[in-house]
Amino acid sequence: MTVNTGKNSNPLHESTVAVHGGEFVDPATRASSPNLVMSATFAPTDVTGFSARDEKDYGGFVYGRVASPTVRQLEQKLAALEGAEAALAYASGVAASHALIAGRLSKGDHLLMPDSNYVGVAELTRDTLPRFGIETSFVDTTDPKAVAAEIKPNTRMLWLETPSNPTMQISDVRTLAALAHEKGVRDIVVDSTYATPIATKPLSLGADFVIHSLTKYIGGHGDAMGGSVLGRKADLDALNLEATVHFGGVLSPFNAWLIMRGAATLPLRMKAHQEAAMKLATRLEGHPAIKRVFYPGLASHPQHGLANAQMKNFSGMMTFQTHEAGMAVARRMVKQLEIIHYAVSLGHLRSLIYWIGTDDIEQSTFRHGPEAAARFRDYMGDGVFRLSVGIEDGNDLWADLVKCL
Ligand SMILES: *Cc1c(COP(=O)(O)O)cnc(C)c1O
Repeated sequence: MTVNTGKNSNPLHESTVAVHGGEFVDPATRASSPNLVMSATFAPTDVTGFSARDEKDYGGFVYGRVASPTVRQLEQKLAALEGAEAALAYASGVAASHALIAGRLSKGDHLLMPDSNYVGVAELTRDTLPRFGIETSFVDTTDPKAVAAEIKPNTRMLWLETPSNPTMQISDVRTLAALAHEKGVRDIVVDSTYATPIATKPLSLGADFVIHSLTKYIGGHGDAMGGSVLGRKADLDALNLEATVHFGGVLSPFNAWLIMRGAATLPLRMKAHQEAAMKLATRLEGHPAIKRVFYPGLASHPQHGLANAQMKNFSGMMTFQTHEAGMAVARRMVKQLEIIHYAVSLGHLRSLIYWIGTDDIEQSTFRHGPEAAARFRDYMGDGVFRLSVGIEDGNDLWADLVKCL
């Protein structure tokens, strides 16, 4: 059985890895494309122990919560794309994040988080972790000096998200990973959902773990939720035994199969996302109704230089602010948009837009102290439109959007 890991004798190019990574011709049927194996249990070829810990020594599959063939294939494709030793798949991006945090940290450990990042993970770290004795604090991760100042003797994990959702801030993974490791932080994690492995490979910049919401660009079609943790094999083997087997947030084989099919076209799609996004960002920036556009590909992005150095593709995510109150513009969008869907989520074939009000997200999620709140408001204004540019034609998208401005 030949499994393409992306580490073949001739290093393969990204588009080849995306198609063939983790895939192989099925030895039983000679099927060329991946089989979908839905079975929850597997009949072993010999008597094995009952605990998941015993399955390590048995090469085959035993029970779907420990490991399952189609999910394993997806994990191998993801690892190949990311240039990681291994990957684990979970039922959602938040399940993957929770598995990594709760699987790696204990009572008394300190977790250093960005002061704004994906809301689900932000709320998990603010509301839930303290109940379990995990200390969390929040810092502007675009400022390496501020990050260095917040690292304590018990800081075990530094969490980064770049570009960040929804603020479009870029964090310097190489600089932050080096300074945090130097100060004794064990785990540098990068949520790379916005960037995808096509833009950035955080492990090559010094990170220990990468998180992806597979619901977004990697699945890409908006029809399957999933998440992944990528990193060293030894770390992920240990994580599998606890975070997968005991927390139980495993990915359905059907979703793994859909996401694998989506991942094969990731390099192509990211090119199309970037092309249409660049067109829209440029036109928005020149439109009189628009106050500000945040897109890493624009020279006006406050960290365009860093984005240029750290991202091979600027992705399809942007935010913008209007001179008119955002809520009023959002109401027109709900009624008038014909192509772009007014809906949450991102990274799909279809363009999606959503208004995120600053007061709303402050109260529900970030609850910043006075200094961080002022910084956040300065950046976000009264809120932003988060636009996930799909792979439709950029001119059609512009015509749809501009009539609402
Ligand atoms: C959506 C998202 C998540 C969470 O993923 P789910 O699949 O919705 O659980 C995590 N991080 C980022 C940056 C996201 O955009």
